[in-house]
Amino acid sequence: MRSVPPLTAPFGGCEIDSVASKRFAIRTYGCQMNVHDSEKVATLLEDSGLSAADGEGDADVLVINTCSIRDKAEHQLYSDLGKLRAWKAEKPGRVVGVGGCVAQQVGDKLLGRFDHLDFVYGTHNLRKVPAMLEQADRGQRAAWVDEEASQDRFDLPMRRPDAPVGRRHKAFVTVMEGCDMFCSFCIVPSTRGREISRVAVEIEAEVAALAEQGIREVTLLGQTVNAYGRHDVRRGKAATVGTMPFAELLARLDAIPGIERIRYTSPHPLFYDDALIRAHGELAHLCPHVHLPVQSGSNRILEAMRRRYTRERYFEIVDALRAARPDIAITSDLIVGFPGESEADFEDTLGLVERAGLVDSFSFKYSPRPGTTAADMAGEVPAEIAQDRLERLQSQQKAQTLAYHETRVGQTSLVFVDGESRKGQGQLSGRDPHHRVVNVDVAPEAPVGPGDALVVDLVAATPHSLLGRPVDPALQPVPRD
Ligand code: SF4
Repeated sequence: MRSVPPLTAPFGGCEIDSVASKRFAIRTYGCQMNVHDSEKVATLLEDSGLSAADGEGDADVLVINTCSIRDKAEHQLYSDLGKLRAWKAEKPGRVVGVGGCVAQQVGDKLLGRFDHLDFVYGTHNLRKVPAMLEQADRGQRAAWVDEEASQDRFDLPMRRPDAPVGRRHKAFVTVMEGCDMFCSFCIVPSTRGREISRVAVEIEAEVAALAEQGIREVTLLGQTVNAYGRHDVRRGKAATVGTMPFAELLARLDAIPGIERIRYTSPHPLFYDDALIRAHGELAHLCPHVHLPVQSGSNRILEAMRRRYTRERYFEIVDALRAARPDIAITSDLIVGFPGESEADFEDTLGLVERAGLVDSFSFKYSPRPGTTAADMAGEVPAEIAQDRLERLQSQQKAQTLAYHETRVGQTSLVFVDGESRKGQGQLSGRDPHHRVVNVDVAPEAPVGPGDALVVDLVAATPHSLLGRPVDPALQPVPRD
């Protein structure tokens, strides 16, 4: 590992004018944690005087924020970096940096392999990016991938009020990082490090400040977000450290004026307790949606995955959540073709999707990740069988999602508008409290846009979205003859 010099300004801001006048772009792969990390890096760079480019073609600095959850991620990075040689050569002074999970895993070997790469930063080292950029401007290349085990890793600047227009009403807030679960298929504990929970007063202060900026919806982030505070609570140190059980944190955030919606992702089934389930029935702003990864419906496969719960326990949680909040929408993540998965195991997964009433799911074919215990397991499922299972699962899920959407038609809902829908033509798109996409046709001159809350009647359903009509007649489009 090569070192970077001491930071020259708060959060490592740049003092060299030639750096501060640069324009940057960030290419982000992967999960919401990565999206949020990219937002933090963008804020660090903006606070250092750089400005966001209109696109990569227009940028002087390009940062690739990588993901390693699928096997193609590393190859994708190498392909991206290969192509960026020409991008860098087009304009003198251009800088290329790589961060995220692949950077954490591969570290400074990336610098050896790509001589046009200027800096590499790990998942705990976002604060170092401005200083590394400053070094790059002096022709020095650096990699920084140390694990940061203190609260310092959370000490990052607040998001700026001039965030992209589609995100001015909602924000991510990190509450914990890392993972101690070591599921047999997952590389995250190696790339994100050990679990650490952020001090609660810092989280409350951030959410209150976001509310003052006009943010109405916060999504609390953590690799196992509902494990928040658990180590401190178990050791009797929560009061000293400043953490608490997750349900208590939710209650505190629920009381912050201006925050209308609270979501959290991703929880682990193991960390649902009575208090968290009750919170879903009691907290006014906690959304009626939980994304609760299950991965498989087979107890045999769950054990091989080292998930530490059974399908029966998963059903107990789902049933308890529905008892607490009858309209709750539950979505999940699923893997097919895990080593040793038989047809009967897979049918257990199909059965779970139905029994749990999953409103939607992300499903993937298993791919071995080097460094995980599952990568060495026998019983590889042939690719064509895994593909067939994926298609059957997705087909069942599509039908279930449509059936759920159809139950919503006729209801009134509140949509926070994110922007134009994919269809365009003035149609707006946003999310309802259940995290479903709702597209809304509005009159061309209607004074509504990103960040507005729109009360709609849900009038039609597809497997991917709902169609809403504004309840206010003044916002409705004029019907065609
Ligand atoms: S809980 Fe399992 S799947 Fe989730 S991040 Fe941790 S190791 Fe990975």
